[in-house]
Amino acid sequence: MSAHFSFTCTRNFLIWLWNNFMPARYHLPLTYSHLIRLERNTMMIITAMTLMMPLLLVVSAFNTSPQSSSSSVSNRVKSVNYFISRECNYKCKFCFHTQKNTNKLGIGNAKLGLQLLQHSGTEKINFAGGEPFLNPQVLGELCQFAHSECGMAVSIISNGSLIKSEWMDRYGQYVDILGVSVDSFDPATNALIGRGTGDTTKNQHVSRVLKVRELCAQHGILFKMNTVVCSLNHREDMNEYVTTLDPYRWKAFQCLILQGENAGGVNDLNDARELQVTREEFDAFIQRHSEQSALIPEPNTVMQNSYLLLDEELRFLDCSENGKIPSQSILEVGVERALSQAGFDDDMFQKRGGIFEWTRDRGDSNDSSILK
Ligand code: SF4
Repeated sequence: MSAHFSFTCTRNFLIWLWNNFMPARYHLPLTYSHLIRLERNTMMIITAMTLMMPLLLVVSAFNTSPQSSSSSVSNRVKSVNYFISRECNYKCKFCFHTQKNTNKLGIGNAKLGLQLLQHSGTEKINFAGGEPFLNPQVLGELCQFAHSECGMAVSIISNGSLIKSEWMDRYGQYVDILGVSVDSFDPATNALIGRGTGDTTKNQHVSRVLKVRELCAQHGILFKMNTVVCSLNHREDMNEYVTTLDPYRWKAFQCLILQGENAGGVNDLNDARELQVTREEFDAFIQRHSEQSALIPEPNTVMQNSYLLLDEELRFLDCSENGKIPSQSILEVGVERALSQAGFDDDMFQKRGGIFEWTRDRGDSNDSSILK
């Protein structure tokens, strides 16, 4: 009897709930006699309502999943490196993005790629190569487009040998960070590495780096340095020059071997195995330069999978298996799908400080020379 009473109360409550939410023409009667007659229908309605609740929850979960997914994509693609071409005028022995072809996209497709990245959440684009200044017009237009049309912070990594003041006058305003590779301040070591002409009577590479630093100061661009620590330079003391150059960031990478690039195999253009340094040798280099506040050490374990790399056809490069496996192009399958093939380690990206202040202050052009 009491079970029947409780069932009736519950049923009446559900009918009351139904009547409150449904239009009048669908209202159910609440009198006991009607309920007896409608019990079968009512039970079906109650069962349907009960079944619909989890269904609605599942549907709502599915409805929110694309948003969560796109928000996770936007977190992952905040900072992207685009190797616009593999062409280079230097022949560094440890290079792990070698000149295996001379392909590059037309400017229209390259800009389309930047727009796809922008819509996926990219906030900073780094143009690299090869040597990006081998294609100054394309590079300049991409910097302008990324800054003015896509609202991205713009960075460039160059070997510093081809940067002209005319280019800086025209396109420098669109650049936030200009990074130059500097592996040694000794001309003989640079020649051994493969940077420059090999003429050890002139410290050509260092003169060029100093000139680029000057241009950055004139145009208010943040100056950055990259150094690959290898068996040829790991004992060098660079403190004096680094203090003069005063970079806002100085990255030191442990020489990295990648299959298909610099591992000495049949498909590799380089063999950098003899240039490798141990972790202890790398750490000793870092320790020697520990007074440099801009120094950011990146041993192989940190560097290998923590960068999002797009090659000359806008394919992400998966380095997780010690090689460079290209994804499908973002132009063909979109950023999200290509990203799923990138082998990218977001945790390591966060841990290595992949997000930092990457926009220069455009209201305050720095015209102070470092070379007075
Ligand atoms: S300058 Fe850079 S891209 Fe060119 S060969 Fe050297 S490491 Fe490779």
